[in-house]
Amino acid sequence: MKKLKSNFKLILTLVLIVFISFSSCTRDGLELYSEDFLIHDTSDSDPDPDPDSDSDSNAAAEAEDEDTGSYTTCNPEGENATRTSNDLPNPVNVGTIDDRTCYANYKESTIDGLTWGIYNITAGSNNQDAPNTLQPRMERSLPIANVNIGSFVKFNGDFRILEVADNGVFGQSGTYIAQAKGQHTGGGGSPDPAICLYRAHPVYGTGVNADKQVAFDIYAERILERGGSGSGREVVFLKQVDKNEIVSFEMKVGVKEDPNDATKKIHYCNAIIGGEAFNWDIPEAERGTQSKIRYGAYRVRGGRAQIRWANTTHERVQK
Ligand code: CA
Repeated sequence: MKKLKSNFKLILTLVLIVFISFSSCTRDGLELYSEDFLIHDTSDSDPDPDPDSDSDSNAAAEAEDEDTGSYTTCNPEGENATRTSNDLPNPVNVGTIDDRTCYANYKESTIDGLTWGIYNITAGSNNQDAPNTLQPRMERSLPIANVNIGSFVKFNGDFRILEVADNGVFGQSGTYIAQAKGQHTGGGGSPDPAICLYRAHPVYGTGVNADKQVAFDIYAERILERGGSGSGREVVFLKQVDKNEIVSFEMKVGVKEDPNDATKKIHYCNAIIGGEAFNWDIPEAERGTQSKIRYGAYRVRGGRAQIRWANTTHERVQK
């Protein structure tokens, strides 16, 4: 019996030695113990009881000023009598507030010495327009420029995207972070038509982050004709940004002479996102009568959207 016990101990020791040498070999050489392998293994055999916990190093990072977890569509502190009644006295962000959400009013956060404007909206929270008509939004509108040659409006800012709308259908999902608008001659479309909109779509993580928005694809939604909406627009992928990444943004909308024909003009909407230029000429330049810019958070057909803006400036040149 004693011999059997010592034999068993010996076998156990040998197994342990073999295991240690094998695992150190694979770790250094064969790389069987990659992070992917470990994440997959843990999530299957030992599910994290609290996936939102900060102690979980694999969880998508939460921003300091992010609303997390479940929420109610409207909140008492989100009620505003009119679209402009509940702005802060001296907001850091430029432009006139257009608050059409009962989820929140405009507020600010300061992170690492930089103050951010907070634009949070939820599906079905438009408390300013007739029910089931227009989408919720919290945006700021900027002064309008005329369409003489050389006139333009320009907006600069830094954004962070924390969350955007998703109802499972691409064409209905996503949240606009900024847009160019402008009226035109000859009729057609909305009385206050959008021209080019910058729309953020969610990119989800993998494994324990499969239900978390970890990055965002930014698309340009551009009219194909004046007043175009729905199929009268094209949606073009521009670039991907990470969740909570500080991204520089410039948008310039204006009119210049057509270099190929001095009797014609070009109505342009040019953006620079994170240093990358996305220039675009608006169709039917001669019909345009305005250039204007709005930014913030607009459209949420499912869930909640959270956009942050800082270092905002606006320039208007009128000829
Ligand atoms: Ca509000």
